Amino acid sequence: MAKIKMTTPIVEMDGDEMTRIIWQLIKDELILPHVDLVSEYYDLGLEHRDSTNDQVTVDSANATKKYGVAVKCATITPNGQRMEEYTLKEMWKSPNGTIRAILDGTVFRAPIIVKGIDPLVPGWKKPITIGRHAYGDMYRNVEFKALQGSKAELVLTDKGGKVTKQTVHEFTDTAGIIQGIHNTDKSIGDFARACFNFALDTKQDLWFSTKDTISKTYDHHFKDLYEEIYQNEYKTKFESAGIEYFYTLIDDAVARVMRSDGGYIWACKNYDGDVMSDMVATAFGSLGMMTSVLVSPSGAFEYEAAHGTVTRHYYKHLKGEETSTNSVATIFAWSGGLKKRGELDKLPELVAFAEKLEQATISTIEDGIMTGDLYIISSLETKKKVTTQGFISEVAKRLS
Ligand code: NAP
Ligand code: MG
Repeated sequence: MAKIKMTTPIVEMDGDEMTRIIWQLIKDELILPHVDLVSEYYDLGLEHRDSTNDQVTVDSANATKKYGVAVKCATITPNGQRMEEYTLKEMWKSPNGTIRAILDGTVFRAPIIVKGIDPLVPGWKKPITIGRHAYGDMYRNVEFKALQGSKAELVLTDKGGKVTKQTVHEFTDTAGIIQGIHNTDKSIGDFARACFNFALDTKQDLWFSTKDTISKTYDHHFKDLYEEIYQNEYKTKFESAGIEYFYTLIDDAVARVMRSDGGYIWACKNYDGDVMSDMVATAFGSLGMMTSVLVSPSGAFEYEAAHGTVTRHYYKHLKGEETSTNSVATIFAWSGGLKKRGELDKLPELVAFAEKLEQATISTIEDGIMTGDLYIISSLETKKKVTTQGFISEVAKRLS
């Protein structure tokens, strides 16, 4: 059979360790037999990042800006131990951080749902996607310890030198702590647009929540900016897509999430998203089933697995031992990227192939063939644990 043609390159960001092995297997067994892959390849493996002084990461992000779609393998974020292991020139920054800063993007995490892997919340039938605002608040704070007898004030000096001052607290009877946090209209607006765009893109409702009843200026401003952008730029688009945007207090959102059956995007402030995404991911089963997509306000998409390079499995692999690493989230990163490329370039065969790849992956697990992480939690009666390679071969069989 003739292979599916592509017109615009997909930006391919290779990575490290076990996921680098999986990356090659996916390409060789699942993609290349069916697609005439047109990709612009960037090797974000740690050795190559080091030899290019991390320029390759910047180049890959700029290529994503240019072409609009990237698929990324998990990468090592160096620490002291990695400095020695790889004899690095410098402790390079997190590639995801670098890419996110260049694309100004928001990360959405969504679980892949299959029969037999039951969420810990029995009512959840559809994925819950969390969009986390990745700038400001507590993550860019200034904080001090306050000695007893000290007085904390909030001071704002405007362009013209006008000073607005308010007492935060007088530590008369006891010592304490203080913290200053901020956010910007630009960042909140970019976050809102990324969320509205992603909701339209995936045809799901968008929920947004803050603590505006308590934080009447700070959190309320998030709510107001969202509402303004929605009314001016998205309301008609949402109505014609048949989806809904609604705002609610974070406490109410949490209660609604627990009672819901899923199928929506939940936009969260930085801290809420940090905490809630770990809770939701855990409740849906395995890290190996969690996908992640970075969406820029200008409409570029970068797809990846939410997990890391699975170092423990890689060291086993290096010793020649058999591994059973879950490749599903990485397969879905590829299918997500190819589907998006197909939509943008009007290539229905490419979209259909991406959907078939996802279906083949899900069928494999629903047929009872799965990697170790799923094997221990699957409720299927007949199930079989397979190796990393064995799982991908089973998907390949179902695909052709
Ligand atoms: P990790 O690679 O996500 O793995 C943590 C543990 O979770 C694994 O040891 C394994 O548990 C389980 N796990 C994760 N993904 C799995 C999969 N696909 N299949 C089966 N089990 C899976 O996190 P880490 O060990 O903390 O980090 C390793 C490296 O990844 C670090 O260098 C870190 O910098 C990097 N990292 C990269 C990204 C990214 O690029 N987006 C994200 C996170 C971490 P068991 O060992 O119990 O089987
Ligand atoms: Mg967290």
